[in-house]
Formats: sequence, C-alpha cells, structure tokens
Amino acid sequence: MTQIITSWYDGQRKVYCVECADSSPEVQAELEKAEDEDQLEISNEPQDALNQTCTACHRQISEVRDEERSYRVKVTITFECEVDVEAGSWVEAKSFVRETLSTIHLGNSKEALELELEENVPMTEAALVDDCFYEIEAAKGIIPD
Ligand SMILES: [Zn+2]
Repeated sequence: MTQIITSWYDGQRKVYCVECADSSPEVQAELEKAEDEDQLEISNEPQDALNQTCTACHRQISEVRDEERSYRVKVTITFECEVDVEAGSWVEAKSFVRETLSTIHLGNSKEALELELEENVPMTEAALVDDCFYEIEAAKGIIPD
C-alpha cells in the first residue's frame, strides 16, 4: 500500500508522499488548510501513486515507505445546552442547574462518546475521553411570546 495525498488548495493540484506529509511543517500547514476546505484527497490505491512525484521531496511516491503507524488525534467537543427553569429569580434558576450538574453522571456520557468514537472512526485502536468540563452562564428571563 502506497499512500498518495493530493491537495487542490488554491486551485493547484499538488501531490505529497506520507513522509513529507508527516515531517515537513510547510506541507503540514498546506494539508491542514486543504483539509479544512475539503480540498484534500487521500488514496491508498497503488495505481494512483504510479508515476507521481512528490511536490516537496521530488521522489517517486510509489518508492516511499508504506507501513501504517499509530496517530493520536485530539479533539474538543462542546455541547451548548439550554435549560428552561421556572424559579423565583435568575439566581435561583442558576442554582437549580448548578446543583443538578454536580450530581448527574456525566461520566456515563464520556463512556458513551468513547464507544461511539471507537465503533465509528475507521481503524480506531482506542478512544479516551479525558476531561469533562462545563461552564454555567448567567440566567436570563425568557420573554413570553
Ligand atoms: Zn515527499
């Protein structure tokens, strides 16, 4: 398996080998931008790499090492929640939410998320949800319609 990474960032077709993609900061920065704009294609088909020369190191892509390695991807997922509460004051409404948040089992959500990631991200070896943090904002009165 030889992997070829193609970027169409800025309307230009550029191909890279996995070594340059993993080790060159300039190539990484370009691939990052291409990824963000969905202008990136990754192929593991040997025929796609035939007669292709890496834009960065000018080697034949089919001659570059081809073993798979393990990578760790860090991601922060934020849930924005709105809880509508009936209370005597905004401060009471906020305290209802705060008190409940300290007692509900957010750990169960961590496990559910780990399972989702492990089952759905291709080739996942392990997924660990490290941290769970929340921030409670000020309560505001809801204007009835
Ligand atoms: Zn290269």
